[in-house]
Amino acid sequence: VFPGSVDAAGQPATLGVMGGGQLGRMFVHAAQRLGYFTAVLDPDAQSPAGRVSHHHIQTGYDDPAGLVQLAHLCQAITTEFENVPALALQTLAQTRPVAPGAAVVGIAQNRIEEKAHFAACAAVSGVSCAPYAVIETPAQLQAVQAERSDLLPGILKTARMGYDGKGQVRVKTAGELAAAWAELGGVACVLEKMLPLTAECSVLVARGWDGRVVSFAPQRNVHVNGILAVTHAYDGNMPSALATRAREAAVAVAHHLGYVGVLCVEFFVVDDGSEHGGLVVNEMAPRPHNSGHYTLDACDVSQFDLQVHAMAGLPLPQPRQHSPAIMLNLLGDVWFAASGQQQDPDWYSVLRLPGTHLHLYGKVQARAGRKMGHLTITGPDVASVKTVAQQAAGLLG
Ligand code: ADP
Ligand code: MG
Repeated sequence: VFPGSVDAAGQPATLGVMGGGQLGRMFVHAAQRLGYFTAVLDPDAQSPAGRVSHHHIQTGYDDPAGLVQLAHLCQAITTEFENVPALALQTLAQTRPVAPGAAVVGIAQNRIEEKAHFAACAAVSGVSCAPYAVIETPAQLQAVQAERSDLLPGILKTARMGYDGKGQVRVKTAGELAAAWAELGGVACVLEKMLPLTAECSVLVARGWDGRVVSFAPQRNVHVNGILAVTHAYDGNMPSALATRAREAAVAVAHHLGYVGVLCVEFFVVDDGSEHGGLVVNEMAPRPHNSGHYTLDACDVSQFDLQVHAMAGLPLPQPRQHSPAIMLNLLGDVWFAASGQQQDPDWYSVLRLPGTHLHLYGKVQARAGRKMGHLTITGPDVASVKTVAQQAAGLLG
């Protein structure tokens, strides 16, 4: 579907997105820049993407009338969050191209299926996930308690609906494991061995309907309390041998899934006694990702541009990063840092720093842990980017 085209009924080429959060908002911006109209489906009247889109369908994600309306308005549809009901994507796919498809989104929604997929393609990707066991029944819990002490200390993670460290409990003993499973409501979980991480990184890949793939170099991510805090995106952010392996592994995963659209694959770097450490695949997001926000300001093509290109069947340009970058996530906490009351940060001082790019998502209410925006710092060289990032972080408390 070509940008700017008008169909027989006089309707302008329109791209749709399930979900109206900040990822949807940045997707909408990228689509509109190319001349597309956009439609967002999100029940929230104040959703960040709904507010900037040509059309905002305010229904639940599985509302039949809402889905019909979205399909009617749009020539192609994507999703901005992985917990969209797979059935909704299947319904849309009956009449419209949907990328990524319901099957791959379904895999990414469930850690058990996700890990099975990683295992199935380990031979081509060259990476495995952390040792783990599935706990779905009391009998499985008992078996793990009796036979899998190798997984302790570990992290018990719900199979579904986990994000930003939610739905996870760290456990040291078999007793703590039982308590944690009860605490999580006895739902399907995986127990994962706690690994000695030396770093974390992620790779963004875009794959087209024709199977062509482009990718960004891996970015190194720092998480605080399970939430992404800082992304380092520049040459030398991690050992180049590991970076090459991570990038190739992510591409292999995308091919193996027959994926269409932007995919983010997250990796752990673990201390395994080798020179640079070993690479372990953690999880994947079937969409643009927080760790790729720097591409908006530091690359000639952003992750959101690639999502638009992929779903619309446009050529996928290999992105080129033109500046080193550091991205700082702006959580709601920043708004309370100074006085304990909600108060805007000193943007004047932040924006006076060279190479700062402020992105706010239009969320009115700041809350601790809520992603309100991000700040990307670009500059002529890594040293100056690091210096400015430190100054900005200081101003933001
Ligand atoms: P989420 O869906 O919340 O992003 P993750 O599985 O990525 O869940 O876990 C969040 C963070 O917790 C990771 O980025 C990492 O810092 C830490 N973590 C998760 N699993 C492990 C593990 N097996 N060993 C060590 N740290 C882990
Ligand atoms: Mg994660």
